[in-house]
Amino acid sequence: MAHKMVIWALFKSAGVLAFIRSIFRPRYRRRNRLCVRGGDNLEGTVSGVCSECGEAQPPQGRQ
Ligand SMILES: [Zn+2]
Repeated sequence: MAHKMVIWALFKSAGVLAFIRSIFRPRYRRRNRLCVRGGDNLEGTVSGVCSECGEAQPPQGRQ
């Protein structure tokens, strides 16, 4: 059944996209000073811990 194959291919590509996004999201958030867990703005946060969810943030490599 070709119809089933199309649905399966879409399902798989959605999974691959989610996987790729899960790899790149932390990098994007770190670069933009956002919490790696919830995406909260960490501008002005000096403790290295998110004030919203308490997640410890990885150290900033470059400013
Ligand atoms: Zn957070």
